[in-house]
Amino acid sequence: MAQSATPYEIIVLGAGAAGMMAAIACGEEFLARGQTLPRIAVLEKNRQPGIKVLVCGGGRCNLTNAGDIDFLIGQFGRNGRFLTPALRTLDNLGLRSWFASRGVPTHEEHDGKIYPDSHKASSVVDAMVQRMRELGVEIHAPCTAEAVTWNSSSKLFNITTSTVQTFTSQILLIAVGGQSYTRMGTTGDGYSFAKALGHRVITPRPAIVPLLCKEPWVTELKGLAVQDVAVRIEAPGPLPRLATGKPEPSINDMMFTHFGLSGPAVLNISEIVAELLEKFPEMTLRVDFVRHLDHEELAGVFRQWHSTEGKKLVRSKLAEIIPQRLAEMFCYLGNIDQRQVCANLTARQIQQLIERLKGTEFTIYATRGFKEAMVTAGGVRLDEINPDTMQSRINPRLFLAGEVLDLTGPSGGYNLQLAFSTGYLAGVSIAHQLHENAYGNS
Ligand SMILES: Cc1cc2nc3c(=O)[nH]c(=O)nc-3n(C[C@H](O)[C@H](O)[C@H](O)COP(=O)(O)OP(=O)(O)OC[C@H]3O[C@@H](n4cnc5c(N)ncnc54)[C@H](O)[C@@H]3O)c2cc1C
Repeated sequence: MAQSATPYEIIVLGAGAAGMMAAIACGEEFLARGQTLPRIAVLEKNRQPGIKVLVCGGGRCNLTNAGDIDFLIGQFGRNGRFLTPALRTLDNLGLRSWFASRGVPTHEEHDGKIYPDSHKASSVVDAMVQRMRELGVEIHAPCTAEAVTWNSSSKLFNITTSTVQTFTSQILLIAVGGQSYTRMGTTGDGYSFAKALGHRVITPRPAIVPLLCKEPWVTELKGLAVQDVAVRIEAPGPLPRLATGKPEPSINDMMFTHFGLSGPAVLNISEIVAELLEKFPEMTLRVDFVRHLDHEELAGVFRQWHSTEGKKLVRSKLAEIIPQRLAEMFCYLGNIDQRQVCANLTARQIQQLIERLKGTEFTIYATRGFKEAMVTAGGVRLDEINPDTMQSRINPRLFLAGEVLDLTGPSGGYNLQLAFSTGYLAGVSIAHQLHENAYGNS
């Protein structure tokens, strides 16, 4: 097996959002000091860098969110504070101006989501790859890191790979992502690397993942998106805490699919559901489709339809407050004929419709698992990482960044910002460490 001749100063495992940004930040830090660039190698499992970034936001890449730092921190729930130094080093404005300076201007859309003006994730990846090349970063792809060891006598990391080459480096950054969307190369390798180097890992769990439900009528509505619903979880006993920090009820849009439920309102609480399904065979989601009307106001609406709009079809009037296909389904489920007019609505039918509109129950029995989860909850324990540097508290030459850490945000651009910010901070910190080693500065 071939050994790399001279050790690299830095090896980055994973050319994803965090790994690429770390290599760039480190190189740029050296450049800013007018110093010779260090030897940096990025090892990537896929044939090309940034494959997962390419699928983000449906190929358009929702690279961050417009909220201020406190808002961004709040999205990461119980672990959000860990991110403060990383976000202060590279926040969403800094990220946007970095991409703008590299020819990728961005704009804000619905819910503060930020996208490149090109509407192409490839422009984000191309800009990063181009910058790495300018900085002389070696990209080895495909090259899967298979095992990582630390040699305390030589003070070097050894990385065996799927190629004939074994790499050695003074500093190692683990940025191989989580365990979600496994076909993109993210198969949880970082957890075993971190464990081999002495770290502990919070059990990974699928998050931002679609849910399977039992109600057969749901599949009839596949492809239908319903805006601004409120989703509540009903389960025996107290609910687990949500790492993503999104409060319950989850208010956003939801989507019916050929297997169950998806869309941000569902995806953002799917992590809790995944945890509950480890204990219970099934649990209930209750969806309020008309959250701006309380029960009494809704009853008033039906009274008004009954008295002043009696000749109008029930399904047509319902379609004024919920999507047409859902209105027709609710009529069908409530045994209301498609031709029934409002004047003929019985008190029982009205009661049933109100119950459906304000709290349809969905029986959830599974998630779509890691295969379809957008992110992984759990990961390398944060109390073993210094948030000011992203440096391991166990081995000061080891750094970790991105989704491999026990940090998860909801959908909306937060997870890429997390990867970019922690990657950037790791890159800058690595540059400082190399500088201190070389010049003995404290
Ligand atoms: C379909 C989908 C859509 C998404 N959309 C958005 C969105 O619009 N906005 C948002 O904020 N987030 C989105 N996310 C989440 C986002 O992609 C991740 O949070 C983010 O990419 C994590 O960055 P990372 O650098 O930590 O890991 P990744 O970007 O996953 O990069 C890790 C890299 O490491 C490589 N790797 C893995 N194991 C090894 C190994 N052993 N050796 C070498 N290389 C290895 C992988 O191939 C990968 O390229 C989406 C996720 C999915 C699946």
